[in-house]
Amino acid sequence: MITNPAQITRHHLANQAAPAYSLIRKVCACGKASTAKQLAQYGKCAACALEAVRDAIMPGDFAKLQHMLGVVQQYPKSKWGWRNYFAAGSGQQYEAMQRLVAAGLATAGRAANEMTYFHATRMGCKAAGLDAAGIKRALEE
Ligand SMILES: [Zn+2]
Repeated sequence: MITNPAQITRHHLANQAAPAYSLIRKVCACGKASTAKQLAQYGKCAACALEAVRDAIMPGDFAKLQHMLGVVQQYPKSKWGWRNYFAAGSGQQYEAMQRLVAAGLATAGRAANEMTYFHATRMGCKAAGLDAAGIKRALEE
């Protein structure tokens, strides 16, 4: 590999001149380019962040996350995110929700009648496979 000091300096200056720090291209440990904002927030690129959270939960938890967001066979992908809640009582369902919360995929909402309502976060939506429109639907409607 040929190192060209002038080129490095130009890149450095270009980075400093970037209008928003989030647009500065950085590299994840896996070698993929990512944004400084993404790396500051998650410490890794989006693909690695998703992989890490998938490793942190149990396989059944992922199915619950998908159920939470309506990511089920009966609905086409264009409808995913039509719901965003999962009511869990105590026991296994609640424990699964706690793992999703710990992994940053869900948050606990209101509790009523000994049930707690959990909702997917933006990262949870991404992990479940929602596209931008689906995420908007799940988080804003
Ligand atoms: Zn990566």
